[in-house]
Amino acid sequence: MAWRSYQFRLYPSKTIQKKLNEQMELCRQLYNQLLEELDKARREGRKITQRDTQALIAELKKTENPELSNVYSKVLQMVNYQLWSNIKALSQLKQNGKKTGRLRFKGAGWYKTLNFNQSGFRIAGNKLILSKVGEIPIKTHRPIEGQIKGVIIKREKSGKWFANLQVEKNKEPQFLPSMGRAVGIDVGVKHFLTDSDGRQVENPRFYEKTLERIRVLQRKLSKKRRGSENREKARIRLACAYEMLVNQRDDFLHKLSRFYANNYDTVFVEDLRIQSLARNRNLAQKILDASWGKFFQFLSYKAESAGRMVARRKPGGTTQNCSNCGRKVPKALDERTHRCPYCGIERDRDYNASLNILYSGLGRPGEPAEIRPLQVIPASLIVEAGSPIPPG
Ligand SMILES: [Zn+2]
Repeated sequence: MAWRSYQFRLYPSKTIQKKLNEQMELCRQLYNQLLEELDKARREGRKITQRDTQALIAELKKTENPELSNVYSKVLQMVNYQLWSNIKALSQLKQNGKKTGRLRFKGAGWYKTLNFNQSGFRIAGNKLILSKVGEIPIKTHRPIEGQIKGVIIKREKSGKWFANLQVEKNKEPQFLPSMGRAVGIDVGVKHFLTDSDGRQVENPRFYEKTLERIRVLQRKLSKKRRGSENREKARIRLACAYEMLVNQRDDFLHKLSRFYANNYDTVFVEDLRIQSLARNRNLAQKILDASWGKFFQFLSYKAESAGRMVARRKPGGTTQNCSNCGRKVPKALDERTHRCPYCGIERDRDYNASLNILYSGLGRPGEPAEIRPLQVIPASLIVEAGSPIPPG
């Protein structure tokens, strides 16, 4: 069975928002109460299990915190589950020799999700109906294929609401017909990527526009007085701009990876060698730095469900070696053209690299049937050409 998750925007009314926020607050209180119980047990040298804290929830409803009854019981169970997952993660880190602290109590506003697992939710038309919450308009911008097994309600920093649907696909994946083609992809900084069929995809233009907007909003935010209402407004605007950057990036990467998954049987890529250069990069830059990893993640997922393959090769030699004669031609970082003194060939540096990635993937050195002239393509164009290219 394959799993898939969908994220959809929610449009809760003011009343429902208030309810959701109150329930998140109750979840936070519960988390802290259960954690306190764990600490107490530890102090007293008493063994305590996930089942014990589970049973404690019913107890708390009757005694200390009757308001917990306002929250769907499975959602409360998931708080307990979350707590124990955190404990397991922490002890895993400890086992791996990492220095760890203890679980901390969570402050106000920390809890930003409600986790409906298995039950307590239903979608009817354009509404998501949640137990003990009510109806929330939902925008399902793509069809949901399969059975919904869980819904996580999320409040973003910008104040927007989302539902994350965990869906079990009951259908076998639809394999695409073979295209009889393989491609090598080189990712770069100057261009988003270059492939061995001669496409050079530029970094999308919206990056610059959105980054500029973020810079402006950051400046505005820094001028607002701490604690003022205007500062809060500016903070929300900035959070919205970050969200927009993430959405634009993911949309672009989905379409670009779709293009390669549709058009090639095998895609060869080099294991990531691009890492964040500076440590103190800002959030916007971090979002863009994550693009390569995301691209390969989307590509692998799409290729797999189409019955295709993404093969990674170890980095090394791709830039320096000549894709025509195989000899080593050292070049500086800023040299954009590969000029081979042995065989005389001249190629774009990244195109040369993508050919090397293809050949080493195919396990044969040397010339393929055809070397195509390099075409510089704006990101938007390749993305619009998402349909298969005619067999070459
Ligand atoms: Zn050569």
